[in-house]
Amino acid sequence: MECLFCSIAAGEIPSEIFHEDEFCVAFNDINPQGPVHFLVIPKKHISSIADITEADQEILGHMLKLIAILANDKGLNENGYRVVSNVGKDGQQTVPHLHFHVIGGRSMTWPPG
Ligand code: 5GP
Ligand code: ZN
Repeated sequence: MECLFCSIAAGEIPSEIFHEDEFCVAFNDINPQGPVHFLVIPKKHISSIADITEADQEILGHMLKLIAILANDKGLNENGYRVVSNVGKDGQQTVPHLHFHVIGGRSMTWPPG
C-alpha cells in the first residue's frame, strides 16, 4: 500500500525536509497555516495516535522532545506555538500516517473549527 508520508520519509517524494534522525523526519507543510508550519512524522508507519502501541513509546517520546527543539530553532519559543495531531474522520485527518503539525508565527484562535 502506498503511503504519502512513508514516501516522503524515504525521500521518494520531494519535500522540504529539514531534520532527519533514526526515528523521524520533519518537513514543511505544503499548505502552511501560519508563517511556520511543519510536520514531524515517524519513519515507522503508524496510522494515527489511535494506533500507537507500547512498543512505540520511545519514538513518541523522541518526537515530542524534538518538536520542542525544532520549534525553538525556528524562533517560536518566545511567543509559543500550537502542536496538533488530527485523528480520523471527525479529527479531519487527511493523511493516514501519524504526524504532528507544529504551527507558529501568529496568534492562534480557540476553539479550533
Ligand atoms: P492532516 O489533514 O492529515 O492533519 O494533515 C495533513 C497535512 O499534510 C496537511 O496540512 C497538508 O497540507 C500536508 N500535506 C499533504 N500532502 C503533502 C505533501 O505532498 N507534502 C507536504 N510537505 N505536505 C503535505
Ligand atoms: Zn506511512
